[in-house]
Amino acid sequence: MNRILIAEDEQRIAAFLDKGLRRNGFTTEIANDGSAAYALASSGAFDLLILDIGLPEVDGFSVLRRLRGEHHEIPVIILTARGEVDDTVAGLDAGADDYMRKPFAFDELLARIRLRLRSTAKPEEIVLRSGDLTLDLRTRRAATGGRQVELTAREFGLLETFLRHPDQVLTREQLLSRVWGFHFDPGSNVVDVYVRYLRGKLGDDRIETVRGIGYRLVP
Ligand code: CA
Repeated sequence: MNRILIAEDEQRIAAFLDKGLRRNGFTTEIANDGSAAYALASSGAFDLLILDIGLPEVDGFSVLRRLRGEHHEIPVIILTARGEVDDTVAGLDAGADDYMRKPFAFDELLARIRLRLRSTAKPEEIVLRSGDLTLDLRTRRAATGGRQVELTAREFGLLETFLRHPDQVLTREQLLSRVWGFHFDPGSNVVDVYVRYLRGKLGDDRIETVRGIGYRLVP
């Protein structure tokens, strides 16, 4: 059974999540503020954290940065207020695995929770795939639609990052730090340039631009 920690100070939303998740077979616990959220999430007793950004005492960003700073790998889905694109980007940059904007449909959140739990349970794979697109991590070869695609080292790194985060929006900064390391100026457009190269090789519609946030590999 999967244990989910709900860090949310709005009683109505916390109760809604709690009820919905229990009905779907999860064990849940609610934390009403940032300190409680950190204490419970770092205990290792939970498989996933749903983290509201606007929490009293210690906000969601601080909880997340502290968890990641101490190498807690618990999957985190952040909840952000509608229209707060900056919060979403900052949350992903701070180490969130996914996000939902309020108000959200419960079924969509449930699908995202299941996806995150599945991707952490997966053993190390040698071939990553999405639809007809495959990437062999040993031979470093990609293939799509039955044809082999030659990739440069950076293109390979970028595609591997996308394939390891299925259906997840990745910010430019996340992609920069994962593929290039932190040696690049965050204002650099190198990510956009390489996304363009990948689109040229894999097809334009393979990587979607999510306005104001980043890019997503289309499943
Ligand atoms: Ca709140």
